[in-house]
Formats: sequence, structure tokens, C-alpha cells
Amino acid sequence: MKRIVILGAGESGAGAAVLAKKEGFDVFVSDTSSIKDKYKKLLDDHQIEWEEGHHTEEKILNADEVIKSPGIPKEAPMVQKLMAQHTHIISEIEFAGRYTDAKMICITGSNGKTTTTSLIYHIFKSAGYDAGLAGNIGKSLALQVAEEPHEYYIIELSSFQLDNMYDFRANIAILLNITPDHLDRYDFKFQNYVDAKMRIIQNQTADDHFIYWNDDPVIKQQLDKYDIKAVQCPFSELKEKGSIAYIEEGQYKLEYPTPFNMEQEELSLTGKHNIYNSLAAGLASNISGIRKDIIRKSLSDFPGVEHRLEKVCDVAGVHYVNDSKATNVDACWYALESMRTPVILILGGKDKGNDYNAIKELVQKKCVGLVYLGADNTKLHNFFDKLGIPVRDTHNMKDCVKACYDMARPGDTVLLSPCCASFDLFHNMEDRGEQFKQQVRSL
Ligand code: ADP
Repeated sequence: MKRIVILGAGESGAGAAVLAKKEGFDVFVSDTSSIKDKYKKLLDDHQIEWEEGHHTEEKILNADEVIKSPGIPKEAPMVQKLMAQHTHIISEIEFAGRYTDAKMICITGSNGKTTTTSLIYHIFKSAGYDAGLAGNIGKSLALQVAEEPHEYYIIELSSFQLDNMYDFRANIAILLNITPDHLDRYDFKFQNYVDAKMRIIQNQTADDHFIYWNDDPVIKQQLDKYDIKAVQCPFSELKEKGSIAYIEEGQYKLEYPTPFNMEQEELSLTGKHNIYNSLAAGLASNISGIRKDIIRKSLSDFPGVEHRLEKVCDVAGVHYVNDSKATNVDACWYALESMRTPVILILGGKDKGNDYNAIKELVQKKCVGLVYLGADNTKLHNFFDKLGIPVRDTHNMKDCVKACYDMARPGDTVLLSPCCASFDLFHNMEDRGEQFKQQVRSL
């Protein structure tokens, strides 16, 4: 019996184990940290052997194939040992892809993956399609393939998942954008990260589609390097050479495979970045044959994704918006760009070497107040105080929201789009967003 070893027992590892067991493999799961109770139960329910807190070498190195969780870097000692003995190492998505004939719609990019994936899923579900949401969101693909197979899977793929994919084929591949990220996992070489993203089109045939952002210089540079077999579906903000989806005179337009248009104003997601996400999602839906009236309605009634430009509520005529997911300057730029009222901006947290020059102009143009929220706000003071916008210094969410409340006037928007990671004061970006919403609602 072939032996499959799974490194890492999170959502993807535990799911892969269940599928491997179902397919008749000898399965062993090993995680150097502690495994969450729900995954232990899942493994026990399927009589799968597991260990936590360490790796037992002799139980791992005898694997015929290894499924590695995306969170484990290739530099990890056990992975190095496996590579040295040429053991085949794959990702959970690659493994699950072997056991389904479903149509795969795969979304990658440096920013916008979760939003676009959720929007496509919303459109497919509204159309009554039998679709599953997988990848970085929700239940693992492997578990769904094992226990509740669907006809379509809408899959959010990070570069880490793509790293260990070889034979997997996306029927529709979406590449939203490529900007430097996670370089610590790619030997600090941007090209290595770009190559990982481009794996989204590997194995595609002439029956498949490749949707990509035509305005992205990095993507455009890559196109010539590949023998792209899929139908190319470039989208861009404005109608330009080659683009088959764009905005023209206030109309959202798709040219392919059949013409589709709607008022741009009717799109539920606001902001320039969400135009791109909506164009990519619309194309994938139109290509999949979803009725136009359903695409139109779904693009206009999509409720959005939590912590991404999420409308919280209005208090005393002031709008409160939670964009806690904006953990870098680029994301905050898009959030500010989308604002149509004066803004009180909440900034701060754990800075990953931010250069705030990228948002300086927008801050000057749109912000009437800045509230710093971090364990150490020195860098923010040094950069923004000289702009002459009123600032407040806070170190917890309660004080922060109170400061915003005091500064804001009716018609203003209080925007949490902090440009920074949350780990200095919060467990994670979700915790930061939740605390923000809680404090706003108790005003
Ligand atoms: P991801 O899953 O790739 O991290 P999300 O959909 O969670 O992306 O969005 C993360 C942040 O990136 C959001 O706060 C938003 O401001 C920004 N963003 C979303 N879509 C795009 C895009 N197409 N281009 C650039 N930035 C985007």
C-alpha cells in the first residue's frame, strides 16, 4: 500500500488526510505544533494515525509522497531532508485535484483573492450552480472532494499552494495582480514569487481560459515567456488594446464570450480595486454560461467580505468602515481612493517597513483627521504630523474609536485601514476588525 505522509494538520492537512484514507492509502499526519481539537477529532473519526509537537523521522522519510501544508516553508529541516532524498512533495490542492473531474476556477494574485473568490462563489450560488468554495477560504478542497463533491470549485490559491502544484489544471485561471510580497519565502527574489504565481496557467489547454489584469506591468512582462494555450481574457480599467472587459462611459462591459453590460454605479463593491475584482468575476461567470440577469443582479447585491471595506454602521451621521485587512500601504491606498467623503483615518500597528509616501497625497486630499492606533506610534508621528491634519495618539481600540467619534462631523467617514499588521495589540486582523465593530456599535 502506498504511504502518504501529511506535514501540518490544519484545514488543508486534515482534509488531505481524510481524502487519502478514503482513496486507500496508508496515511500518517505529523505536525510540530499542537493540532486543533476539531482536526484531531476528524483524524480520529477516520482512524488516521497522527502526531503533534514533533516529527518522527522514520515515520516520515519512508513516505511514497508527501503533502505539505502551505504554511511550512521549504527551508524547514524535515522538508529539506525529504527533498534531499527526492520524495515527491505536493500541495493539498494538487492532491485533491487528482480525485475530481469538477470544473476548477482558480484565483490568485497579491491582493484581491478573497474578495474575487467570494464574489464568484456568490454569483455561482445565486445561479443555482453546484459550487464549492475552497483554497484559503472555508473547507479544504480535499475534504469537499472526499465528502461532498461539487461540479464546480471556486478556489483561492496563494503562491504557497501554487509552489507545490505540478499536474493540476485550472479550467479558468484568474491572475489579479503581482506586487512584491512574502519575499522571505522566495529567497528574497521577486522573480521566484512571480514564477510561483504564473504556475496558475500550467497545464491549461485550448479549452481553458486565462483571465488577467492587463494594466499590470509585471504580468504583461511574463506573457511572452510562456506558451499560453488557454484563451486569453485580459481585463483593464479602461478600454484598451486587447482588453475584453473594462469600464467605458460609466458602463461595466464584458465582450466575451457574448456581450454583457451594466451601469458601473450598480456594482455593489466600490473602489478602483473592486472594479478589477468585479471584471474578473464577471468574466469567469460569463464564460461559465451563467445567465446575464443573474450576473447583473449578483454583481449588484454582493454583500462584500468581512474586514474589507466593510460598512459597519452610521453613528450621528458618521459612516464607520472596517478595512482591517489592509495590512499594507497598497491596500490602504485603494481604500482611500474609494472614499467620497472627508475621512478620519485610523493608522498603525506592526509596520513591515512601510513607505508612507505612497499614500501621502491621498491623505492630504481626503483626510480631516488621523488617529494612530499602535503600541508604538513614533513612525506615524514623524511622517504624518507635519501635514497639518489633526492627529490623536491611542493605544487601544476603545480610546481609538472614542477619539474618532470626537473628531468626526456628520457626513464624514471613519476608516480603519491601518497599513500595518495587527500583532502589536491584537491576535490578528480579524480580532482588530471585530473590536473596532464592537466599539463602534457601543457608541
Ligand atoms: P487577498 O485575499 O489577496 O489578501 P482581499 O480580497 O482579502 O485580498 O483584499 C485585501 C486588501 O487588498 C483589501 O483590503 C483591499 O483594500 C485590497 N485589494 C482588494 N482587491 C485588490 C486589487 N484587485 N488590487 C489591489 N488591491 C486590492
